[in-house]
Amino acid sequence: MSDADVTVANDHATSATAAAGRAARVRVVLVGTQHPGNIGSAARAMRTMGLRRLVLVAPQRYPHADANAMAAGADDVLAAAVRVETLAEAVADCRLVLGCTARSRRIALDEHSPRAAAAQVVSAAADDEVALVFGRERTGLDNEELQLCHAAVHIAADPGYSSLNLAAAVQVVCYEVRMALLGLDAAMEWDAAAAPMPQRRAGAASHAQLEGFFGQLADTLDAIDFHKGRAPASAMRKLRRIFLRSALDLRDVRLLRGVLADAQRMARLAGERGAEDRAQADAPVPSTASANADGRVSGG
Ligand code: SAH
Repeated sequence: MSDADVTVANDHATSATAAAGRAARVRVVLVGTQHPGNIGSAARAMRTMGLRRLVLVAPQRYPHADANAMAAGADDVLAAAVRVETLAEAVADCRLVLGCTARSRRIALDEHSPRAAAAQVVSAAADDEVALVFGRERTGLDNEELQLCHAAVHIAADPGYSSLNLAAAVQVVCYEVRMALLGLDAAMEWDAAAAPMPQRRAGAASHAQLEGFFGQLADTLDAIDFHKGRAPASAMRKLRRIFLRSALDLRDVRLLRGVLADAQRMARLAGERGAEDRAQADAPVPSTASANADGRVSGG
């Protein structure tokens, strides 16, 4: 390893540790949760985003088998969950407390998007304990509870139906926290390394038009004996990737299908000619034996 490599590796380790350290200072607080299944789903949502600290404020039914069932593999988050009786206890040692609310602008708190909130969470979590607070399924957080929060977080859902399922809201907010944590870690280049998204083009061929083309391509490859005993699926997978990458429009598809139609026609002709040749080779050779009594050769 060169010195430069070592530096990059160290930076990476440092920032990954820093991100993990910050994640460990973020807790998710669920207040008065009614359905134990939602506690399990929330634990799973947190765990997939690298957050593990769950605090339950006076849950209505907990522990409960439904919580473990919905947590799937995230039982460890449930097992380590802390249970307290009031929100004040849950956030006593926090220096940033954000309340997530489904109802926009009814409260006298500054309101932030999950993304803006996550940036603040991750920055505060460098040194301080941070809480993300979620309310009850039926009634959310009450005013007294919101008073304990420094700011509100609102997911800009459809205003006509803005209340997400509790665990879905936890997922959205925790996802943004994770994106902010990953953003800290320049060495990870988690997004830059990804393949570019497919380009959208005006007049792009539809799924069905492309599948029609791929079907004909598969038939043509068979007809021209392209595979020669190799697995057809593997060639088709590679060909699909090539064509899907090139964002074909309908005219491209028509042109390519025209080429295939000609290849299929030629394959058919070659097949017919081969069959004729074989038929001739197999036919009995006319000989004097087939001449009839008066010496004329039969036939014609
Ligand atoms: N009927 C309740 C909805 C509660 S949903 C109400 O009107 O407040 C349960 C919890 O999920 C909410 O308390 C909140 O913490 C979170 N949540 C649901 N939808 C949300 C949204 N659009 N933005 C932020 N948090 C939301």
